[in-house]
Amino acid sequence: MVRVFTHRWCLGHDPGRHHPEAPARLRQVQDHLSSTGWELEEAPPADLSTLTSVHPAPYLEMLAQTSGRGRTTFDADTYASPGSWKALLGGAGAAVAAADVAAVGGRALSAIRPPGHHALARRPMGFCFIANAVVVARRIQSAGKRHVLIVDWDVHHGNGTQALVQEDATIRYVSMHQWPAYPGTGRARERGVGNIFNVPLAPGLGREVYRSRLWQAIGDATRDFVPDALVISAGFDCLQGDPLGGFTLEPEDLADITGRLCNRWPGVGIASVLEGGYNPSRLAVGVAAHLHALKSA
Ligand SMILES: [Zn+2]
Repeated sequence: MVRVFTHRWCLGHDPGRHHPEAPARLRQVQDHLSSTGWELEEAPPADLSTLTSVHPAPYLEMLAQTSGRGRTTFDADTYASPGSWKALLGGAGAAVAAADVAAVGGRALSAIRPPGHHALARRPMGFCFIANAVVVARRIQSAGKRHVLIVDWDVHHGNGTQALVQEDATIRYVSMHQWPAYPGTGRARERGVGNIFNVPLAPGLGREVYRSRLWQAIGDATRDFVPDALVISAGFDCLQGDPLGGFTLEPEDLADITGRLCNRWPGVGIASVLEGGYNPSRLAVGVAAHLHALKSA
């Protein structure tokens, strides 16, 4: 059984007209999943003590102060709107609910926005505010699962995730991403304490190249590391036709990787967290393929 968590508050984050990280992205995912028989569960919003495992309290207080206010600008493409703080709490709550499923060996996805893997400990960046994947990893660890593998197939490098885990050998982070591209980090030589496995690749390569290179990196990352839980930073901007990415993957490629992860570590819990994906219909189909693989593998 695979559980799907979301939160209606996630639709209330409005980064502005013409911004690619629009509420319509998540609405389309929710509508597509509902219409294809998935039950979407609304998780309770995250409480602050969960988030302080990753972000300092003053940073969270600063974000909370944007609540109900006008537009707050953090960088060239990262804005908070009056509903953003609640969206962050709802999204992180759904991610934490998925973590709690994975911590007991189950599989779950959190269908949320905004994404999180560019967020730093004390700074929003690249549409992201809360490092949801790391919040999930810490939550799983607090439940007694020590070794966590994070796999990030978003077309962009998860600089925030990397920065937050690169000194922690209990977490391994594998990221495949377009190079060169935003945010300019993610070189193969960035290795942390030997726990970071970056796969920077050019746009426009054959689907099978991306698929095999990602799987190879997962193999490298787990040669001497047995994960007790898996976290997937599931970004669907790696699909062919995404307006912000140049990779050529298809939904079945991500389903294939998902199935291989499930079969490689049977019985190990998986928490998947939605990251990017800026063609809403492709995003919806990609999420559905990923979920179907989580259910059937
Ligand atoms: Zn992305």
